Amino acid sequence: MSARRPSQLDPLFRSVESLPGIGPKIAAALKKLTGPYVLNLLFHAPSHVQERSVLQAPDLGHLNRLVTLPFQAREHHPPATKRMPYRIVGDSGGETLEVAFFHASRDYLHRQLPTGMPRWLSGELGQYNSRFRMLHPDYIVAQDDLAAIPRFEPRYALTQGLTTQRLHKAMLAALELLPDMPEWIEPSLLQKRGWPGFQAALEALHAPDGKEASLARERLGYDELLANALALALVRQQARKRPAPPLSGTGKLQAELRRLLPYSLTGDQERALVEIGTDLSQPERMMRLVQGDVGAGKTVVALLAMLQAIESGRQAAIMAPTAILAQQHFDFIAPLATRLGLKCVMMTGKVGAAAQRQARQAIAEGSAHLAVGTHALFQEGVEFRDLGLVVIDEQHRFGVEQRLRLSDKGQGTHILLMTATPIPRTLLLAEQGDLDTSILREKPPGRLPITTIAKPVEQRGAVVDALKRALDQGARAYWVCPLVEESELIDMANAEERYDSLKQVFGDQVVLVHGRQSSAEKDAAMLAFASGAAKILVATTVIEVGVNVPEATIMVIEQAERFGLSQLHQLRGRIGRGTGKSTCILLYKPPLNQTSEKRLQTLRESDDGFEIAEIDLEIRGAGELLGTRQSGLPNFRFGGIEDHPELVAISHKDARLLMMQDPSLRATERGQAARLLLYVFERDEAARYLVTAA
Ligand code: ADP
Ligand code: MG
Repeated sequence: MSARRPSQLDPLFRSVESLPGIGPKIAAALKKLTGPYVLNLLFHAPSHVQERSVLQAPDLGHLNRLVTLPFQAREHHPPATKRMPYRIVGDSGGETLEVAFFHASRDYLHRQLPTGMPRWLSGELGQYNSRFRMLHPDYIVAQDDLAAIPRFEPRYALTQGLTTQRLHKAMLAALELLPDMPEWIEPSLLQKRGWPGFQAALEALHAPDGKEASLARERLGYDELLANALALALVRQQARKRPAPPLSGTGKLQAELRRLLPYSLTGDQERALVEIGTDLSQPERMMRLVQGDVGAGKTVVALLAMLQAIESGRQAAIMAPTAILAQQHFDFIAPLATRLGLKCVMMTGKVGAAAQRQARQAIAEGSAHLAVGTHALFQEGVEFRDLGLVVIDEQHRFGVEQRLRLSDKGQGTHILLMTATPIPRTLLLAEQGDLDTSILREKPPGRLPITTIAKPVEQRGAVVDALKRALDQGARAYWVCPLVEESELIDMANAEERYDSLKQVFGDQVVLVHGRQSSAEKDAAMLAFASGAAKILVATTVIEVGVNVPEATIMVIEQAERFGLSQLHQLRGRIGRGTGKSTCILLYKPPLNQTSEKRLQTLRESDDGFEIAEIDLEIRGAGELLGTRQSGLPNFRFGGIEDHPELVAISHKDARLLMMQDPSLRATERGQAARLLLYVFERDEAARYLVTAA
């Protein structure tokens, strides 16, 4: 069986150019705005609906609004110069109304608005020289043609070369192409919600009047969620179906490690380990996510899980998104491994060729029990002898593609994902499907809370003075420079400028890290800061993830209003890691808008990553969050998550049921319909799995 797109859908995947009345220029504009296919055009939802009120005469209450008015021309005033408008003055229900046109043809206007003939005009009502005026009416129709002027009109986001009228015309042509579609929504849900069918919903979306449009949007929003849930269910079914040898372990290495640790585990860490341990001892491959705020102690949980794999005679690996982080994991794991009699190797792009060859060999032979590294671990030429478990740290930093490649490579390998960016439940479901998760909410004991204060940037001088006093008493500080999304170069320039000015005050105590440095430079700076040789680390957000210098107790973040809430929380997580009392100073540029104000306030009041993530979601909306997190997830066009979060869970339940009844999506009518749905929302990637699922 092939996973080719069903031919029934071909009309929707025709090029917009094939629509009647759409020339190459408009087609180019449409492609730029919505995408290449008729389907993309149909999914271009109106941003709002505009009403044209039908009035008997102009009135001040409707100024700057769209109105439809009667009009009878009295006098034509051709312009004296080309720059002036052509004016037609006349009567509108007893009021004087002037209609004005720039660059219009005289003949045309005489045909359209001959003196003494009653017409209806529709357009924006304005005022000029204290007289009612309408510039370039959208519609001019004869007296008995009022019905030709729409009462409601959808308004769309446009692009150069496109007008509402043109777009609408293309839309009507596109709607004509809609094939008959079978229903994929569960009948009782459809009935309960009172949703229209798919075609009717698209028609209502573009020809909206009141209630219908909102139900239509809701339905399409659900369609999109269901397509997404099905896609995830398919991918998971695929991942799940893979058998993996159980890793029951003996508990021996784990017990030894626990004896070596200077602390005992928190309740949440213990619970996560039980969950992981249970998964690992199943003959099915594990796919579990550990979510834990920064500093929650995920690394040791990962290590204990890896030991269970090694106890079962297999290898284990942990992959980090950056070389700095991989190094830190290695520094933590390697000495412990040695004491347990295990061999641990490191594999990053930064490791020298000879060392890399040795590591690769140890991995291939199986003499290395543990491997720590970046994605270099899974490059061509690296073959594990018998990889039982791979841990992916800060998993959201890796693209979907990397994750897929990894899971293709690791046949029979259990997978543990870890993230320090807490993901609200709804989002997690939408993004990952029904992934098993373990949560580390509790922080290891003995942490002092971080004091967070916000100050306007004018007080930077005072902050530097305070920093000086703190440094005299042995403190160490991060100084994070403003983030300019568009340009790494500007980031760097900002960081360098701040570095120079701080150097004038603090001299050699300051070091600098940014993304454009060579890794040797970066490492030297990090090392100097970690060892205490340097006291201030000026950095761009390269320090965001995972860096661990427990002695650092101060963080200054410049132009904090430019950072996202979760990102600020991540950054702040670099301090408060040791025993000293920590302070985070958010420097902002006034005036703050409401969103930024709320962000800074939230940070001052909360240190709970999960709560912060929820508020972040609330402030920014799911779309943006998903977008900026670069999850590789297609955007949700119809706002299903934001407007109807309750539908997310329903869509997943429904998808699960459907997959249970008809795993190949072709045995039942609804299954076949759902298959169409996958293509309609361009979840083809997942449909690929239908081939093997059948
Ligand atoms: P993250 O979850 O951000 O990856 P880490 O694993 O880096 O956190 O742990 C942060 C710090 O907390 C480390 O120094 C680690 O040794 C320490 N730690 C972890 N678990 C505990 C615990 N149960 N009790 C005390 N300290 C712990
Ligand atoms: Mg970590």
